[in-house]
Amino acid sequence: FPIQKADIIISAVQEEQYPDSVLPEIAIAGRSNVGKSSLINKLLNRKKLARTSSKPGRTRTINFFNIEDELIFVDVPGYGYAKVSKKELEKWNHMMEEYFSTRETLSKVVLITDLRHKPTQLDVQMYEYLKYLNIPVLIVATKADKVKRGVRTRHLNDVYTTLNVIEGDAVIPFSSETGEGTDDVWNNILMDLGI
Ligand code: GDP
Repeated sequence: FPIQKADIIISAVQEEQYPDSVLPEIAIAGRSNVGKSSLINKLLNRKKLARTSSKPGRTRTINFFNIEDELIFVDVPGYGYAKVSKKELEKWNHMMEEYFSTRETLSKVVLITDLRHKPTQLDVQMYEYLKYLNIPVLIVATKADKVKRGVRTRHLNDVYTTLNVIEGDAVIPFSSETGEGTDDVWNNILMDLGI
């Protein structure tokens, strides 16, 4: 899936601003600093589409990208940044709830975890919430280049058991450094869009 066109449509903070589009959407979510921007850039073969955040937790908007007029990538703000105020956290919760629970064109969420560690409590909460809404989830366990081959299976199993991954949802090891997993992620995304 060679990407020529990946243009920002809008940075939204509320439903009224979401693009009026019927294209299938893939939302990409994860803890701040987990490697979300790097992953998006790798998938889109860009150096700098989604700016890698020097200040975690900075992106407080939902960013919609038109990919080849075929699908929309939705970059949602990262969670779990320690230094957010209660008010900001409430804003984030509301923004996420509004998006995930109302967006009819949302076809899948790519939930990013860090393969070096067990998913966090917030990762678990996010996955549970998406399952409660019956949204298909692809879990991408990134920074795989940092995990030694010998312990990889155990780390992958930890992802499955900690999140309690249901049948039908996949976990794909990934690395933005080496590009490992890029084709698997694309195949998984495109498979159920029929592209
Ligand atoms: P974001 O805040 O989730 O968008 O995270 P970034 O994409 O900005 O990445 C956070 C940090 O992790 C940066 O220093 C990246 O260089 C690093 N990083 C991201 N992905 C990988 C990966 O696959 N492997 C390694 N080794 N480092 C990564």
